[in-house]
Amino acid sequence: MQNLLDLDLPGLVAFFESIGEKPFRARQVSHWLHQFGADDFAQMTDLAKSLRAKLPEVAEIRPPVLGHEQVSDDGTRKWLLEVGPMNRVETVFIPENERGTLCVSTQVGCALECEFCSTGRQGFNRNLSVAEIIGQLWWANKALGRDPLTPSPSPAGGRGEHRESRGFGNNGERIISNVVLMGMGEPLLNYDNTVSAVSLMLDDHAYGLSRRRVTISTSGIVPAMDRLRAQMPVALAVSLHAPNDALRDRLVPINRKYPLKELMSACQRYVQDGPRDFITFEYVMLDAVNDRPEDAEALLRLTRDVSCKFNLIPFNPFPNSGFRRSPSETVRRFASILMGGGKIATTRKTRGDDIDAACGQLAGQVQDKSRRVINRIEQFMGEV
Ligand code: SAH
Ligand code: SF4
Repeated sequence: MQNLLDLDLPGLVAFFESIGEKPFRARQVSHWLHQFGADDFAQMTDLAKSLRAKLPEVAEIRPPVLGHEQVSDDGTRKWLLEVGPMNRVETVFIPENERGTLCVSTQVGCALECEFCSTGRQGFNRNLSVAEIIGQLWWANKALGRDPLTPSPSPAGGRGEHRESRGFGNNGERIISNVVLMGMGEPLLNYDNTVSAVSLMLDDHAYGLSRRRVTISTSGIVPAMDRLRAQMPVALAVSLHAPNDALRDRLVPINRKYPLKELMSACQRYVQDGPRDFITFEYVMLDAVNDRPEDAEALLRLTRDVSCKFNLIPFNPFPNSGFRRSPSETVRRFASILMGGGKIATTRKTRGDDIDAACGQLAGQVQDKSRRVINRIEQFMGEV
């Protein structure tokens, strides 16, 4: 049984050809699946009756199972997705004045074990499938499209079927205007599934987002950054967090494999082909660890030849993290040194704090910690 949510457009075309149907059926079905949120072939009224009867025998529409939804005081929403016995991942929607951003997960847990990240602390379990990655957008569109103005008590419920096309507000504006792959996991270590899901996000027959509005965040998997640049360049955020190798080796251990010099060159190459003319460097502000004025000055030297912006993220604490958030005055001073050096530096607002939906707090639930990777870096090198 082929789950149609596991296929990008070329995959859908191949599937329809394999059952003796014309390629345009793929586009038709894609509209139903991704733009109307259909979960039943019977809803696809412009397909020939015979095809509608045949499809349930060879294919299914199986989105991930939705757990409960939490709504924060500031309007941020978080959905839990059940992705196997005792495994859960999280998806977060952050409404802002001009845009709505969905933060999507790509793995159950993460193998890279960055010290300050609660996902990293729980170890790695498995990659999400295409259906599980794109399913987060599918569900969020359904939940938000139903009634964007009031929180929906149960996204899985059957309320408000009046709106024909999902994911658009009352005035036709997009509710989810941006997607960031900044949830649980390292997207570039689940490369193929991530790229297929991203291609659906970009495809006009599916979600039709522009390349500038889909951002992949990576801890710096250099060969995969080059692959992405050639294959599907979307906006890129790189989790830097330290201005020198000694500190980054400790905070972001993948740095031992891809040190800063290589990472900076990869960023320069990416900018040449990417949809934006800069890389966003994410920098989590850890009190007395990486937030001194000389760290900001070292960052300016490190990134001198890279077209980039900085996004300073106040550390989001979790139990036994061993780190503290930098005081806001320290963050301000750090930002002003970067700006004095000619770089744009923004400080991320912390959203969804009260429902643990902020960056690096997505813990979900991972059952099988025995598969935790001991030598996490070497293990994954074969996969990119
Ligand atoms: N694995 C990818 C994407 C997921 S993490 C990556 O590392 O880029 C998304 C962002 O949240 C990264 O910049 C990450 O470093 C940051 N982050 C992780 N833990 C955090 C925490 N406790 N507080 C603030 N930001 C955190
Ligand atoms: Fe993984 Fe990113 Fe967390 Fe590091 S910060 S452990 S790469 S999810």
